[in-house]
Amino acid sequence: MKKISPTLALVNISQLLTLRSSVTGPRAGKNQSDLGIIENGAVLISGDKILEVGKTKSLKKKIPRKTKVINAQNRVVTPGLVDSHTHLVFAGNRADEFEQRILGKTYQEIAQMGGGINSTVTQTRKASPKELFNLGMERLNRMLSLGTTTVEAKSGYGLSTESELKILEVIKSLRRKHTIDIVPTFLGAHAIPEEFKIYRRDYIRILTEEMLPQVAKRKLAEFCDVFCENGYFTVEECKKILETGKSFGLKPKVHADELGNTGGSQVAAEVGAFSADHLVYAIDDDIEKMKKAGVIAVLLPSTSFFLNSRYAPARKMIENGLSVALATDFNPGTSMTESMPMVMSLGCLNLKMSPSEVIVASTINSAYAINRGEQIGSLEPGKKADLVIWEVASFKEIPYHYGVNLVQTVIKNGKIAFQNK
Ligand SMILES: [Zn+2]
Repeated sequence: MKKISPTLALVNISQLLTLRSSVTGPRAGKNQSDLGIIENGAVLISGDKILEVGKTKSLKKKIPRKTKVINAQNRVVTPGLVDSHTHLVFAGNRADEFEQRILGKTYQEIAQMGGGINSTVTQTRKASPKELFNLGMERLNRMLSLGTTTVEAKSGYGLSTESELKILEVIKSLRRKHTIDIVPTFLGAHAIPEEFKIYRRDYIRILTEEMLPQVAKRKLAEFCDVFCENGYFTVEECKKILETGKSFGLKPKVHADELGNTGGSQVAAEVGAFSADHLVYAIDDDIEKMKKAGVIAVLLPSTSFFLNSRYAPARKMIENGLSVALATDFNPGTSMTESMPMVMSLGCLNLKMSPSEVIVASTINSAYAINRGEQIGSLEPGKKADLVIWEVASFKEIPYHYGVNLVQTVIKNGKIAFQNK
């Protein structure tokens, strides 16, 4: 057999966070803080894959003279960050609403003035695929510069067959063009569109009988998501949509218990969802059922921060053995940020997660939440060479030093994709 030689090597890493673990699958309980640290570490990469990880001292001997070597100069290296919940593609913004909210207007009042999800739907329907593509590229560039190498992207601002397909086609083009890996999710059940407010059954019929078959036929999504909440979709409607999605090969996800305890977690457990997201109002029984069903809790603290509202019971989840992941929930109404490092800081400060726990939540657990745990999220031989060099010597500084970009270099598929000059 021909010996595979490295094409790129990283040496002199103060702390190499491999995220290797004795357990397989998403990390839970005590393993939620297992970073698999190698002090004074090194990584050998061949093509787009990790070849070997170890101590600089021992791996240095294996580096051929012609191999490109990056001296990490005593900085921290982690796997590339995985943002497992975003609404990447939409037109316009809601900065005016942001101001109104600061001045004391409630969400209902803002919606009555023509704001809320439906204002973004109106703008997104009007936008051309080219405009949406350009906006998507700008946002992905920002994400990459902040250490994200894989992102989940939902549709959901079209809410008609034509517009939902348009958004998913834009996501497909972005997937081809951008170096970040994108995992597409169909979220036709984001809200009942204005024109169907009194004919909601008709919208659900269109969703299950028109949109889902088309999305599946054109292979435009891997996941099907629903917004299970009072005023959005009921438990029964969500089950119907997710089961129909499953019959077309789409894996279920749920926006659950964000605004109240309304059964979303239970739906996630029942349909065998990959993840239940938000979970601000999840109770003990929900945590137990999701744990038994193998559902990953994707928590979105930047949404609570942006809305100045309640946070999910992360400590209770971790202590009860439910796997916790983190994501930005990037969207124009409730979380206008592309920054996973910011989410990690909020995870520490407001979810009371430790720095180790937020890193596991933003890498390997987030990867499992989008069915990529076998390919990314940890630095192990055979996995994708997606990694970040941080401008710090200790990993604890990553969530601690907030509101600035500590990313020095991002390596995606074994190549330098971003460098902070
Ligand atoms: Zn969301």
